[in-house]
Amino acid sequence: MPQQTKTKILIVGGGFGGVYTAMTLEKLLKGDPSVEVGLISKENYLVFQPMLPEVISGSIGILDTIAPIRRLCPKTNLYTREVESIDVSNRTVTTSSGVRPRPHKLEYDHLVIAVGNITSFVGRSGLAEHALPFKYLGDALVLRNRVIHSLEEADIESDPELRRALLTFVVAGGGFSGVEAVAELNDFARAAARNFRRIKAVEIRVFLLHAGPLILPELPEDLARFAQKLLQRRGVEILLNTSLAGATAESALLEGGDRIPTKTLVSTVPSAPNALVAALPCKKESGRIVVNKFLEVLDHPGVWALGDCAWVVDQKTWKPCPPTAQHATRQATCLAKNLVASLRAEPKQGFAFQARGKLASLGHRSAVADIFGLKLSGFLAWLLWRAIYLMKMPDLDRKLRVSTDWLLDLLLPQDIVMLKIGRSASFGREHFEEREIIFHQGDRGDRLYIVIDGEVEIVKQVPGDGEQFLGRLGPGGCFGEMALVNDNPRMATARTVTQVNLLSVNQDAFDALFAHHPPLRAMFQQLIEERVRGQAGEGQSALIEGETKPLSRSRATTN
Ligand SMILES: Cc1cc2nc3c(=O)[nH]c(=O)nc-3n(C[C@H](O)[C@H](O)[C@H](O)COP(=O)(O)OP(=O)(O)OC[C@H]3O[C@@H](n4cnc5c(N)ncnc54)[C@H](O)[C@@H]3O)c2cc1C
Repeated sequence: MPQQTKTKILIVGGGFGGVYTAMTLEKLLKGDPSVEVGLISKENYLVFQPMLPEVISGSIGILDTIAPIRRLCPKTNLYTREVESIDVSNRTVTTSSGVRPRPHKLEYDHLVIAVGNITSFVGRSGLAEHALPFKYLGDALVLRNRVIHSLEEADIESDPELRRALLTFVVAGGGFSGVEAVAELNDFARAAARNFRRIKAVEIRVFLLHAGPLILPELPEDLARFAQKLLQRRGVEILLNTSLAGATAESALLEGGDRIPTKTLVSTVPSAPNALVAALPCKKESGRIVVNKFLEVLDHPGVWALGDCAWVVDQKTWKPCPPTAQHATRQATCLAKNLVASLRAEPKQGFAFQARGKLASLGHRSAVADIFGLKLSGFLAWLLWRAIYLMKMPDLDRKLRVSTDWLLDLLLPQDIVMLKIGRSASFGREHFEEREIIFHQGDRGDRLYIVIDGEVEIVKQVPGDGEQFLGRLGPGGCFGEMALVNDNPRMATARTVTQVNLLSVNQDAFDALFAHHPPLRAMFQQLIEERVRGQAGEGQSALIEGETKPLSRSRATTN
């Protein structure tokens, strides 16, 4: 018997849009053997993002905010891969290679694009290097660890300036995710600090930066004012009409030139189109894929889009849908119905959805809510927030886990365990503004630096003789290796002349290169000898002159 060819539906994206589409398709198709549904996502789980802020404080366990996609849609073929390209002319999707490095192509008859948007720090100096995004599960865990680490460091730090920066936390963005994140962070930092004997409550400072005149612009003004006052009462310093311009390892840089010294900066603001969407040859509006009222991509039959990556005009309000989970899940139901209708040559329905309300959790058992025009704030709104989001969780198993977490959170003290996950990065980029210190004379040498762009100068404090200028480094110059090789404290100070971007190499990576690559070892040994001669006053000029040359030829060496 000839084998029947199946209609292939391929969904890209394992967020609310993609997973709810697959779940609805499974219900509607009822195991129809002529249709095959596949879903490609980077992760094999759905993140319940509205509960992400609670991971910071630990009131919800890290794994309880996610649900395995295989269990949510068991009849869908899951491909846990990253999609690298979509070819709408040839109806194929190429994913990243897996264990074996070979391209993996999937064909489709219908493609559903639900890849959301991404956090982008492009155009703001230092944010990619020093600001923490807040979108994915890992971001919440990293932030929680950073808060605990900062408290641990501050507790034993004697330098008052550094201590102040460690105990200052800055969140940029006064929309829903920024406000919910700052509320949880503020509660958690203040509660956790009580476990540290040398940290006083008044030393903790938490800032919220917001570009507009009032936070939570999506909410009615009185609720937004309530939220603003409540956060201020709890100690959050809200800077209105203030935008984040950039960051360094030491500070948040504000538009207008002010800076806030901090070691923890979270930016919830910039979202940009996913690279896959940007590369698609279809009509876009504000970077989102324009679809018709049935959620079909214009001029590309068989291609559908929804969620944060799609420009969907609501057929009731005639306004573009906001990027929310509420809309993504409703669009998923509509899209799945329309897709099945098109397979069965039945009529399709336009997308229309009146959002039932807006809720924002403010931590510490309070929230604000605007439900069917009814405005609530405080404890009642918080109870409602929890009840609604618990109901919305797609998996019974997760509902039970989250309810247990919340119950235990009411009874038990906050957990302040700092998880050490993954190794520290061997290589990293660092950004500095003009006239900032990269390291001080006397510091422990733990990294080698290579200048990517900008200028750095090396100076030495000589007792009784003031500051001695040792040299200046430009792009390609390297410094900091001597203290690494000899395990000595830094013998000079490195500071920036202009804005500088550096590549830094940690001790382990440097040791590995130094030990296993003889030509590199010989080069560094030669540099160090020259440096030592320079320090003794013999080779000083050679050192300074050579310092702007690239690493392969450089004579630029400092401690
Ligand atoms: C902290 C936070 C709190 C929020 N709180 C609320 C709230 O309270 N209420 C509300 O309604 N909304 C809230 N939102 C917004 C809501 O989460 C989003 O609107 C919703 O997740 C959009 O769903 P989506 O499926 O379009 O995109 P996403 O949920 O972003 O999913 C995109 C999926 O595509 C995958 N993907 C992307 N690129 C690729 C690729 N190249 N290859 C393979 N897979 C890829 C991603 O891994 C992800 O699984 C919040 C968002 C955040 C960040």
